[in-house]
Amino acid sequence: MCLFCKIIHREIPSNTVKEDEAFFAFHDINPKAPVHVLVIPKTHYDSFNDIPAELMGKMGIFMQDVAKDLGIDQSGYRIISNIGEDGGQEVKHLHFHIVGGAKLHWGHFADADPKDFF
Ligand code: AMP
Ligand code: ZN
Repeated sequence: MCLFCKIIHREIPSNTVKEDEAFFAFHDINPKAPVHVLVIPKTHYDSFNDIPAELMGKMGIFMQDVAKDLGIDQSGYRIISNIGEDGGQEVKHLHFHIVGGAKLHWGHFADADPKDFF
């Protein structure tokens, strides 16, 4: 069982934010912003590549609710999913990072030159 499946099954403790029959939201252990929450489906998918469209639609609504519960829906926030090797995905269970609570920089991309990648 993967790390995040163990969190869903409470074999590893987490700081839970919200849960329903299909999704689980919990605080990231190493926050990169004042608010940094991870949202995962309870069914294991390795990455965003694999989630069915219908479940993704429901996950979008769940994430909107999480942002409201966290009080960042009006101030703004960012949703990120790292996918695979180039995306820098460390945990191979689909997850979305919801980050906010402060003005976020667009550091890696804002002043990037595409040539730097080749
Ligand atoms: P990623 O690099 O997109 O795969 O992100 C994995 C995220 O999981 C990182 O931000 C980690 O800080 C976070 N993480 C790893 N282990 C735990 C844990 N036990 N509880 C909460 N967050 C975790
Ligand atoms: Zn899993």
